[in-house]
Amino acid sequence: MNCFSELPLAEPILKAVSAEGYTTPTPIQAKSITHLVEGRDLLGCAQTGTGKTAAFALPILHRLDAFPLASKRRVIRALVLTPTRELAAQIVESFRTYGKNLPFRTIAVYGGVGRGGQAQKLMAGVDILVATPGRLLDFMNTGEIDLKSLEIFVLDEADRMLDMGFIHDVRRVISALPKKRQSLFFSATMPKAVAELASGLLADPVKVEVAPQATPAERIRQSVLFVDKNSKDSLLEEILRDQRFERVLVFTRTKHRADRVARKLSKLNIPADAIHGNKAQNARTRALAAFRNGDVRVLVATDIAARGIDIDGITHVINYELPNEPESYVHRIGRTARAGNDGRAISFCSGDERDYLASIEKTMRLGIKVVRNHPCHSEEAERGMVDGEDGGETRKRKAADRQAGDSAPRKERREPRQSRPAAPRGTSGGRRRHQGR
Ligand code: AMP
Repeated sequence: MNCFSELPLAEPILKAVSAEGYTTPTPIQAKSITHLVEGRDLLGCAQTGTGKTAAFALPILHRLDAFPLASKRRVIRALVLTPTRELAAQIVESFRTYGKNLPFRTIAVYGGVGRGGQAQKLMAGVDILVATPGRLLDFMNTGEIDLKSLEIFVLDEADRMLDMGFIHDVRRVISALPKKRQSLFFSATMPKAVAELASGLLADPVKVEVAPQATPAERIRQSVLFVDKNSKDSLLEEILRDQRFERVLVFTRTKHRADRVARKLSKLNIPADAIHGNKAQNARTRALAAFRNGDVRVLVATDIAARGIDIDGITHVINYELPNEPESYVHRIGRTARAGNDGRAISFCSGDERDYLASIEKTMRLGIKVVRNHPCHSEEAERGMVDGEDGGETRKRKAADRQAGDSAPRKERREPRQSRPAAPRGTSGGRRRHQGR
């Protein structure tokens, strides 16, 4: 399947897809769309970044268009249930983008913001609803949402729904759906509980699996700089002065640090904003929009806040601080190099983060290329010594422990799989192929 026009999709949809610059369907799109247009159920083992959203949004739009209702009144005909507000907002954007030549109205309902505005939009009529479970149940209980005309149901990121404790809410929603419907089920992983949920929901589904994104994509060039904690700010500033760092996501471990880094950059006239859990949903949405449309070149985020962020054309991920969980590193760097683009991930590692780096490399079974030819390079940090702030007494402790052979992470390090130049400057940056969303 090499081009969209081979897929059985209506012309207005193909036009919208082409306007987005998509030429070739991604594997999940190529494997699912025809079956979904025919009305089959689907079990999709795929995660964000694979083109999953278009894989379900395009056939949904096609079917709603192909089977118009007799009445002009809008009723909810398709429902997408997703675990986070950010994902909900992005899915709505996708429906609007792909459906821009069709008359359907898509809205999202999710918690964390006032319900009044959402209630008003619901009253105005909706064809496609995207929702997080709690707020959806809230509106169902008050009778403001009625799903009796539902034709297509999508359960997105089912494994995360379970992780986040939404399983009961999800079951409650499912039990309120009409029995006669088309169901689509997506999950990045299929542990037993997820598979059970799927088998109760789907009838003779088409099964589609695509390679997970969670393993670091080969297209992401990763490097690490060992630096003293106190040099991180100036190093970040120097890197960001390079305009080839077009759209940069910077990660910190704490909300406080995210704010501090964003403030400092703004003072240096490098437009930056922060998103984290302490910010009101509206402020987060604004920051994401500014980042998406290019008003803000740098977004500083914590791991939780960045979950599910899907913004095209993130050229660089910078780990201002390394995460203490290796899986978070994989998620962080996966924000770049989406949909066929290149991307770079640069990590700042201070002495006290040396062990974090070791476990990241161990988990990924990959040594990250070290940049030593930089003025900020600190041999002490590389040896795991804790720098400056806490004075000279404790700083040698870690190194002494290490020399005593307790963890010796250097020995575990393997050569990088691909040896590409790793200097933080002079990169051509990722290409921005796709706009929108
Ligand atoms: P998703 O997995 O749905 O979050 O999609 C990941 C990214 O890929 C989104 O930013 C889409 O805009 C982009 N995308 C989806 N399908 C295609 C395609 N066929 N060609 C190019 N980019 C795509």
